[in-house]
Amino acid sequence: MKRKIYVASSWRNLIQPAIVTILKSIGHEVYDFRHPANNDDWFHWTEIDPNWQSWTPEEFKQALEHPVAESGFKKDMDALDRSDACVLVMPCGRSAHLELGYAIGKRQKTVILLEAGEPELMYKMVDHIITSPNELFDIFGEPDSANLFEAKLKGEAPWHDDDLLYSATSRCPCGAGLAYPKGIRDPFHYWDCADILTRRSVAGDGKKHTDQLPFNMWKVKSEGQGSAYGATTRPTPNPEPEMDESIPVTHVLQTAPEPWMAARNGSKRFEFRRNDRGFKVGDSLELHCLAGLTFLLVRITYIAYAPQWFIPDGFCCMSIELEQIVKKPTETKQ
Ligand SMILES: [Zn+2]
Repeated sequence: MKRKIYVASSWRNLIQPAIVTILKSIGHEVYDFRHPANNDDWFHWTEIDPNWQSWTPEEFKQALEHPVAESGFKKDMDALDRSDACVLVMPCGRSAHLELGYAIGKRQKTVILLEAGEPELMYKMVDHIITSPNELFDIFGEPDSANLFEAKLKGEAPWHDDDLLYSATSRCPCGAGLAYPKGIRDPFHYWDCADILTRRSVAGDGKKHTDQLPFNMWKVKSEGQGSAYGATTRPTPNPEPEMDESIPVTHVLQTAPEPWMAARNGSKRFEFRRNDRGFKVGDSLELHCLAGLTFLLVRITYIAYAPQWFIPDGFCCMSIELEQIVKKPTETKQ
């Protein structure tokens, strides 16, 4: 049975998009608060007042009457009313818990994906308490591979290297191999940069990529052809990250100004990076911004490696803890 599922979570939650993709792949209609409808922008308090974090209770109360808040609230409530199931993905905050409570009251099918933390007795109200996203398949059905293929074709989910047929030798200007999804017979389909297809690269990252090269105009040899003699531009898988008690290392990294400031004030506590340095828990990162005289020393407290949570091959997502804001000594000329 096709369901309408409301995924309740928080902006800071890194696995929410993966949960949305999983539920869509099973064929359900999923309300994704990050992309409500008609490309409407998502709601955030900053639209009302950049200083929202220092509101008094009176100011907070007033802000709830703001048209932007009214419209954001209506969008979420309409979606909740339309849904027949609600999945709470932790970690998340008060909104998500209120939404789940509403769904319980409306006798919707309810699920909590737990994380480690303080136990909560009232969680007994939900139908299913789960500890791994895989359990969603037991509750909501097996993925329909045709749906997932469609979602990937439409660009709603990234391709995995296993889905792709790589070229034998032709590469994109960025260095990645050219590829196309297996199973496509359409002579008007195209070769494209594998890093774009798998989202290892995204638009605007400053790299130069090829245009899509139509099959019927470009003679690109695929790795699958006998005459390729095993040649391929397929990337070699990452070596297994070392998780043993080897010595912590400090990695020096450059960071763009906006995320650097967010890490400095403590609101950004993750680093999503190409895992080309063997990052491991316990290592430190020096986050530098441009040629600034201050850098941030942060410690890695947790890492999710590809292919967990749909993290693209070659990347990892790290939780970081700010340890020190370090001022470099200035070299003053006398
Ligand atoms: Zn490319």
